[in-house]
Amino acid sequence: MTKGNINVSVENIFPLIKKFLYSDHEIFLRELISNATDATLKLKHLTNIGEAKVDYGNPKIEVKIDKENKKLHIIDQGLGMTAEEVEKYINQVAFSGAEEFLDKYKDSAKDSGIIGHFGLGFYSAFMVAEKVEIITKSYREENPAVRWICDGSPEFSLEETTDKTDRGTEIVLHIAEDSLEFLEENKIRELLTKYNKFMPVPIKFGTKTETLPLPEGAAEDAIAETVEVDNIVNNPTPAWTKSPSELKDEDYKAFYHELYPMQFEEPLFNIHLNVDYPFNLTGVLYFPKLANNLNIEKDKIQLYQNQVFVTDEVKGIVPDFLMLLRGVIDSPDIPLNVSRSYLQADGAVKKISSYITKKVADKMVSLINENREDYDKKWNDIKIVIEYGMISEDKFFEKSDKFALYPTTDGKYFLWNELEEKIKPSQTDKDGNLVILYATNADEQHSYIQSAKDKGYEVILLDSPIVPHLIQKLETSKEKISFARVDADHVNNLIKKDEPAISKLNETEKESLKKNVEESINDKKFTVQLEDLDSKDAPFTITQPEFMRRMKD
Ligand code: ADP
Ligand code: MG
Repeated sequence: MTKGNINVSVENIFPLIKKFLYSDHEIFLRELISNATDATLKLKHLTNIGEAKVDYGNPKIEVKIDKENKKLHIIDQGLGMTAEEVEKYINQVAFSGAEEFLDKYKDSAKDSGIIGHFGLGFYSAFMVAEKVEIITKSYREENPAVRWICDGSPEFSLEETTDKTDRGTEIVLHIAEDSLEFLEENKIRELLTKYNKFMPVPIKFGTKTETLPLPEGAAEDAIAETVEVDNIVNNPTPAWTKSPSELKDEDYKAFYHELYPMQFEEPLFNIHLNVDYPFNLTGVLYFPKLANNLNIEKDKIQLYQNQVFVTDEVKGIVPDFLMLLRGVIDSPDIPLNVSRSYLQADGAVKKISSYITKKVADKMVSLINENREDYDKKWNDIKIVIEYGMISEDKFFEKSDKFALYPTTDGKYFLWNELEEKIKPSQTDKDGNLVILYATNADEQHSYIQSAKDKGYEVILLDSPIVPHLIQKLETSKEKISFARVDADHVNNLIKKDEPAISKLNETEKESLKKNVEESINDKKFTVQLEDLDSKDAPFTITQPEFMRRMKD
């Protein structure tokens, strides 16, 4: 047997990284701004703990297009790098300075929001640039600024420079011919909005004109003065980074519209997620108006890591039934691979998913207890999520008696135990099972509903598309109950509370009426049954077995 080391030479691996590491070229900007953010947050941390004795100030990150020279600049005022640090952090592919920093400052830095992870992000610059320059000056005064240049081959140059006098790092991308779109203002603005909208350090992209307020007592025809100010493209402190006690209902609504600028409808409820043990996760979820709509493609839940947008494909992280909600989830602990949008399925993800489920269930309980009337009113817009959750997540189902409603056809909303209480006296069959009468379409089943109501029964309206599954779930989980659709045959087997009515027809009249109706329907699938009615509008009913009803829908 022979054992040995596989020889990896940079010449071979470099083009591979450039080409295949990231499926999406556009993420280079997210990676470089993440590094600029890390550099800023590291400096913040070092000044906080007294290790860096500099004026932290109000640092920002600037993105600048130089179309003429085909260059894109990303400039930060973070901690910068010395020549040795460039050698160590940049020239060593797959060595993460971010991880090293978190390791070194373990406890104190664990909440610092440092983003970097794999030590590969920087090299994504070569997906769009034929040459990359780093001009950087360390926050430690004694170190001169240095310039690193690399054209994407494993060779680089590193020299001192006098071009930079203030601390921080400037990355200059010489955009390649096949990537010139990244010199377009609109393209860059689009990327900044997509990935960096909520990053923690202000990001400047150009300037904008602002009108100053008129001084008090100004003449009516006075012209307001205007000034050029930085155009900051991000909100560094989005709602989910704050504590729920700091936020009012309006703040949650305002954040909803910030997240989804094209949504004009107000959300119904919000759920603030906030956990730091056994994993870190924050976020705000919203219930949009859904009614029976199972199909919302647009405006999905967004996944962030340390305020950096990762993806809006949250399948696998959020339980399926909650994909109908909107909002954000931010967790540095969701295991993603290098290209960040692919999930590495593992136990942590399961825990996260079940935490979110539990949190949503708890919130529903508190919402219904806080304001039952309001909850009843919104039920039709949220029921699809709740019912879907009940059939797909056992933990959620177990709690659902506390918040799932069963509306009647005449607009009352019962919790399960309220419904049971209500129907116990009148809707029990001969074996003592509760029979829950339901309709799936109030208009089409109108006459059946009416006749059941006339007998003193409650009819609940279950009209969402997943109702057959919900009924099955309830029937298999709850004891001594069964469901019967109002137009199914065994509705007539319920024990009636009143004395039976005496028909005005005699037996022969009944027989011939039944025969007549049967002949005119002429279909063996249906059963015709005469009703002993006195003042009712339907003297007979035509029914089908329950199982056939369910099959049809
Ligand atoms: P990661 O961010 O995962 O650590 P990167 O490949 O993105 O890996 O960056 C490698 C390292 O280079 C960083 O960890 C950091 O030490 C250093 N670096 C990159 N960009 C900057 C910057 N703008 N300012 C200071 N250091 C930087
Ligand atoms: Mg990085």
